[in-house]
Amino acid sequence: MKFELLQPRSLQEALEMKKNYGDKARVLAGGTDLLVLLKDQKLTAEAVMSLAGVRDLNFIRYEDGRGATLGALATHGGVAASPIIQQKFPDLAEACSQVGAVQIQNLGTVGGNLCNASPAADVAPPFLLMDAVLTLASTRGERRVSIHDFFQGPRRTVLQADEILKEIFVPEVPGRRGATYLKLGRRKAMEIAIVGIGVAIHLNGSDQVVSECRIAMGSVAPTPVRARRGEEILRNQEVRDELIEEVAVVAAEEASPISDVRASREYRLDMIRVLCRRAARVALARARGNKEEGL
Ligand SMILES: Cc1cc2nc3c(=O)[nH]c(=O)nc-3n(C[C@H](O)[C@H](O)[C@H](O)COP(=O)(O)OP(=O)(O)OC[C@H]3O[C@@H](n4cnc5c(N)ncnc54)[C@H](O)[C@@H]3O)c2cc1C
Repeated sequence: MKFELLQPRSLQEALEMKKNYGDKARVLAGGTDLLVLLKDQKLTAEAVMSLAGVRDLNFIRYEDGRGATLGALATHGGVAASPIIQQKFPDLAEACSQVGAVQIQNLGTVGGNLCNASPAADVAPPFLLMDAVLTLASTRGERRVSIHDFFQGPRRTVLQADEILKEIFVPEVPGRRGATYLKLGRRKAMEIAIVGIGVAIHLNGSDQVVSECRIAMGSVAPTPVRARRGEEILRNQEVRDELIEEVAVVAAEEASPISDVRASREYRLDMIRVLCRRAARVALARARGNKEEGL
């Protein structure tokens, strides 16, 4: 494997390089996906542009009542350990804490996880739940893209050849939000999700009536997806066990998983139902402020 190494010292310099090299230069953040793909010769690169010197892209900022902005280079470890993310967006903290293991979390970035566009990317479901907005930068300027429009297929996104993901904004929603991300793998660490399910429940007034339910699923379709029909079942409804069951069944109907080395399609469908049910109960308990989650 032979390539030219580009080492910009600022975002502006990085954007100039990306403009000049386009697709010929691969962006390197933590390298935990890119270097594996290059080494296995699943990808080639004339040049690799390391963002290690662009330090101002590694940040987590929170504005009360507005939301949080994460720099593309924020690491999984940094996000999982952030008290404000744990408090306001526990689903995201949980997803980051389940990526690989500590070594991967210290190197791997949330931006790299999204740009790699694996259907199994662990941070995608929480960002889908939060209607995150991505800022893509180039020398032509910046554009904002909803996370819902970002993924185009396995390993394909709307990023243009001269663009870099700069930051991710997650808006805070009014009312009480409870959310969780549950991941099923064959073991607890160093494992790509067989199924990953995020559920967020919003309560505005009573503890009994759900104002909004959001469900996001990973490893069950060509891209991470929301289960919109499942979500509708709980909207403005008083919570009952039968409704949660129905949500789980309908969410599974919205998925199109494949059989692969990790699991069969049928097993994945079963596990969507199980995880969806569990995640809905945890999210609801969190929205209610219950300590005994999911009961
Ligand atoms: C042992 C191991 C275990 C793993 N376990 C998991 C797991 O459990 N869950 C999971 O989701 N993933 C897992 N991964 C995959 C990987 O660690 C994550 O996807 C990680 O978040 C990638 O981030 P990175 O910074 O290392 O990205 P890189 O490898 O640096 O980049 C990934 C891709 O995104 C592009 N890119 C990166 N940053 C930008 C940017 N700012 N703008 C434009 N393009 C960009 C790169 O060009 C490349 O195509 C694992 C990987 C390994 C090696």
